[in-house]
Amino acid sequence: MNDKSTESTPTNFIRTIIDADIASGKHKKVITRFPPEPNGYLHIGHAKSICLNFGISQDYTDAICHLRFDDTNPGKEKSEYIDAIKEDVHWLGFDWGDNLHCTSNYFDQLYAYAVQLVKSDKAYVDSLSAEDMRLYRGNLTEPGKESPYRNRSVEESLDLLERMKNGEFAEGEHLLRAKIDMAAANINMRDPAIYRIKNMSHPMTGDKWHIYPMYDFAHCVSDAIEGITHSLCTLEFEDHRPLYDWFLDELKTDAHPQQIEFSRLNLDYTVMSKRKLHELVEGGYVNGWDDPRLPTLSGMRRRGYTAAAIRDFCSRIGITKKDNIVEMSVLENSLREDLDAHANRALAVLDPVKLIIDNYPEDQEEMLKGVNHPKKEEQGTRDIPFFKELYIERSDYMEDAPKKFFRLSEGREVRLRFAYYVTCTHVVKDSNGNVTEVHCTYDPATRGGKSEDGRKVKGTIHWVSAKHSISAEVRQYDRLFNIAAPASEKDQDYKDFINQDSVEVLKNCQLEASLANIGSDAYQFERQGYFCQDSVDSTPDNLVFNRIVTLRDSWAKKK
Ligand code: ATP
Ligand code: MG
Repeated sequence: MNDKSTESTPTNFIRTIIDADIASGKHKKVITRFPPEPNGYLHIGHAKSICLNFGISQDYTDAICHLRFDDTNPGKEKSEYIDAIKEDVHWLGFDWGDNLHCTSNYFDQLYAYAVQLVKSDKAYVDSLSAEDMRLYRGNLTEPGKESPYRNRSVEESLDLLERMKNGEFAEGEHLLRAKIDMAAANINMRDPAIYRIKNMSHPMTGDKWHIYPMYDFAHCVSDAIEGITHSLCTLEFEDHRPLYDWFLDELKTDAHPQQIEFSRLNLDYTVMSKRKLHELVEGGYVNGWDDPRLPTLSGMRRRGYTAAAIRDFCSRIGITKKDNIVEMSVLENSLREDLDAHANRALAVLDPVKLIIDNYPEDQEEMLKGVNHPKKEEQGTRDIPFFKELYIERSDYMEDAPKKFFRLSEGREVRLRFAYYVTCTHVVKDSNGNVTEVHCTYDPATRGGKSEDGRKVKGTIHWVSAKHSISAEVRQYDRLFNIAAPASEKDQDYKDFINQDSVEVLKNCQLEASLANIGSDAYQFERQGYFCQDSVDSTPDNLVFNRIVTLRDSWAKKK
């Protein structure tokens, strides 16, 4: 029974299978796993798999989820990635407890199983060149051809395998293959590779091995060793399932996990394959794996995404077998909802121009009350200093403004948020005609932004006191790509579609002083969007903020 499930974890076809397995007594205790290869950083697609696998372990009685590093390819794997993956899984709110594993822990066992396959004449060492092996494989319409080495004696294969392991051969000289069926309709069953020679040391096993197991062999065997009950993977492995089952049937492992496939997450306006993310990072198209424009979990975290928003998104998109591309706005809506509910509000002027209140006493200064969260009284109020000289947003003044411009223009009155009504009298311009000062008068009877005579104003604008505000750099992000599916344009490099304006850097923004010490909290800058301090570049002397997301889906409008 899905006894601990909450409203935020809707059921799906995989949970239905698990429910049935528990009801029938096939399994008492469910064990899932999340098996990343430590060859890059995790992205939002991985989050889908993490939420699925760890979500099941949280919701079912006694269930657990293993974190297993699929470290079978030492050329591409690094401990930097292992650390980053652990950090990301924890940050997302999940914990593997004592169940941290590495495929490399099983190298001895995997090898013993391979020997067992050779001994039962279910595997052989092939010595065709890579080129010939391709030719012999056939294709979708033509069956493959058997290698002349296929009927090598068991003894010869065992001897060669042992020597491959010991490093007596060059890479590519030999290959251990399963002996299945070169005419199988499913190409994965045409004598797939089990071990290949790689004369390379491994971060965990050093120089012990000169051969490393292939994914299709290592994965099912590792699942069986760990007693995984449900091995959940993405749809591209559907055609590999017969092989998964073949290995476990031939090896007669104690456990035979059930592989179940679901569709991978695709998001528009970004790329998600690790190969492409590597290219973007290494080619300097972005600033590292945690660049706030990337769909990596470290980039999203730095951008200001919350783990709760990502979990909510994963729960909303659900788990199905249907491939599709999810719109970025779905992700951003999960984010907005979470930030709207929790983030305190603040005043920040991103493109400042001076506003001078000519009738405000020269030597006066006062404290006004700002409401931290309009829907959450318990989040309290803060003091906001008010003074004769303020900054307002340059775009909140317009000369000869149309009727519907409910902000400042000569003769028009607006409310300064939490402060007073002010009426614009005139502006001062520099020699280029740019406005340098907007002059106003204020009505002292409107303190707190309410008029005593009941007179109403249509517009409310934000401001900061010029004397008390702090300056900061603000980075506003846009989509990393110009088109929705950059990776699927025929004959075109996805990098040609990189949005050259994906970040806009605003220097000398003027912020309410309370924003100097907010740590990693996200804030809503009223009328602007949600922002947080950049965890890498921001220092007390040089504040840097990231725009996490706009207040509304401005992208939909633009399109
Ligand atoms: P990529 O294709 O991005 O290079 P990968 O599949 O090679 O990723 P792994 O480290 O092998 O990366 O992935 C670990 C787990 O995450 C696998 O079970 C995989 O199915 C799952 N996963 C990877 N990408 C996605 C995605 N876009 N949506 C859902 N699950 C994913
Ligand atoms: Mg993979």
